[in-house]
Amino acid sequence: MKNRIIVTGGAGFLGSHLCERLLGEGHEVICVDNFFTGQKRNIVHLMDNPYFEVLRHDICFPLYLEADEIYNLACPASPIHYQRHPTQTTKVNVNGSTNMLGLAKRIGAKILQASTSEVYGDPTVHPQKEDYWGNVNPIGPRSCYDEGKRCAETLFMDYRKQHQLGIKIVRIFNTYGPHMHPHDGRVVSNFIMQALRNKSISIYGNGSQTRSFCYCDDLIDGLVRMMRTPDDIIGPTNLGNPNEFTIKQLAEQVIELIGSKSRIDYLPLPQDDPKQRCPDITKARTELGWQPTVELKEGLIKTIAYFDGLLTENPNL
Ligand code: NAD
Ligand code: UDP
Ligand code: UDP
Repeated sequence: MKNRIIVTGGAGFLGSHLCERLLGEGHEVICVDNFFTGQKRNIVHLMDNPYFEVLRHDICFPLYLEADEIYNLACPASPIHYQRHPTQTTKVNVNGSTNMLGLAKRIGAKILQASTSEVYGDPTVHPQKEDYWGNVNPIGPRSCYDEGKRCAETLFMDYRKQHQLGIKIVRIFNTYGPHMHPHDGRVVSNFIMQALRNKSISIYGNGSQTRSFCYCDDLIDGLVRMMRTPDDIIGPTNLGNPNEFTIKQLAEQVIELIGSKSRIDYLPLPQDDPKQRCPDITKARTELGWQPTVELKEGLIKTIAYFDGLLTENPNL
């Protein structure tokens, strides 16, 4: 069946892959984005498709459209972006999510929230399961994002309770791949850009902190599977790759794959930087029949090719 689907944040890294996947399946897609961190480059290849529409709109303001499903991805995701505009970040999560929930309620659409592993903060439980309540600083530099996303989850659950809305919540762990913004400061894009230019690799702290990196295609498949689950499956459900690496291991892997001459530079660790992060994906395995299939090395090779292409096009990037 052909659906009309709204993707907020559709011009961003993940949103653009999601739009492409849904259009590929024959759906009609409305990408709603204010281009705060999104880029035209990510969606330009979709513009010729007559079933693709782009709306430049800030979801903190009301939106009146008709659709069958809404994927709510609008929110800056990289620490340097959300920390540069902290109040805007909380607002998109609280006011923006409220508007999208109000829209879903009016038109009877299913709505999926892209939540985050950041709701677990600097976790004291490892790996993180969905029933862990987290260890979050409410007034630190990451709070606008962490607490904003936690409040959005509360709103989603309460709209279901109060208005019987069809909701889904996924908690996304670190994801990487083509279409990441080259300057958004996230670790995978930073390391690849630095290594391609033979510049020093910036490790914050001693590099012993861990993350688990999921390739974008795997993640998008998880989002779509979640949206299509029966009504009684609402999450929150972790989506991420359970293979955990230290940041130092990531740096070494990137240098090796590129054959770069870069050396490693150790810089101060940012405040409240989580020491370890790894998803327990038992719930996603059982409820969605989902697990990642792309190994870090394979995903890094594709991502390196993307950034290499960007640099060839524009060496001064
Ligand atoms: P991104 O910054 O590339 O994309 C976010 C998109 O939202 C951008 O296109 C931006 O312009 C748009 N946007 C921001 N504020 C908006 C507003 N007020 N109105 C309309 N559009 C707005 O980030 P991403 O990595 O693609 O992340 C997408 C979603 O997934 C985010 O909600 C993020 O919190 C979540 N997430 C991502 C990761 C990850 O590792 N990539 C991890 C956890 C959660
Ligand atoms: N809203 C929207 N589009 C719609 C319906 C509602 O943007 O199609 C917004 C509306 O402006 C409101 C918010 O969603 O601020 C929440 O709507 P809801 O109906 O839940 O709340 P209420 O209007 O009753 O406060
Ligand atoms: N990081 C790093 N060098 C960089 C960028 C990030 O060492 O150039 C570290 C960062 O301190 C964190 C990890 O890599 O421990 C992941 O950072 P990212 O910003 O990608 O995501 P998040 O902290 O939100 O998981």
